[in-house]
Amino acid sequence: MNEHLFKILVIGDGEVGKSSFLHRYVNGQFNKTYKMTMGVDYSLKLLYWSDKEKVRLHLWDIAGTKHFSVDRWMAGRHNERCVFPTGQERFISMNRIYYKGALGCVVMFDVTNPTSFRSCRHWKQDLDNKAMLPNGDSIPCILLANKCDLAQRAVTTDSIKRFSEANGFVTWMEISVKENMNVGEAMRRLVQEIMSVE
Ligand code: GDP
Repeated sequence: MNEHLFKILVIGDGEVGKSSFLHRYVNGQFNKTYKMTMGVDYSLKLLYWSDKEKVRLHLWDIAGTKHFSVDRWMAGRHNERCVFPTGQERFISMNRIYYKGALGCVVMFDVTNPTSFRSCRHWKQDLDNKAMLPNGDSIPCILLANKCDLAQRAVTTDSIKRFSEANGFVTWMEISVKENMNVGEAMRRLVQEIMSVE
């Protein structure tokens, strides 16, 4: 069986649902307070993609590394997530080390928070400035509009579609981590794209 290893980043403003997304995808759970108790910085997921192919996903919750110490990372304790009490980080430019070797990316925002939507432009630019595929192309990136279960929506479907097309995303999807809507589908779509450019 062929085995692939893909490093995938999940980026976006604080509180948009990145950690919940990974927790849902990897552990199949939605738990409002898990962040306080779990302390993971990246997660692993094994996918049996086909009879012939197995994919190991290394999923990095990148904005969660705001208070993350590179010294500690160098010491090999990179699965220990540093506590970030505010959860309020807006756009922060990430160190290149986090982007290194990434083959796919999720940019996430919260449909009830227009600021988090506007930040996606910066997140995507930061990604494209700091990471590229071995052949020089930009990394396949999917735009996810989270919290679609909430009534107080502030970003229209039409503006998401236009933004996604104008900024080079592979595709975009409306999701709800809470309701488990489109979580697995979004990751399948991204992995499919990575497989096709590999
Ligand atoms: P992060 O800072 O981007 O990692 O965001 P978190 O995963 O910590 O989520 C921030 C808050 O949004 C938490 O209170 C989550 O329970 C909540 N949340 C995440 N996804 C959803 C969703 O799909 N719907 C709703 N209503 N709340 C969500």
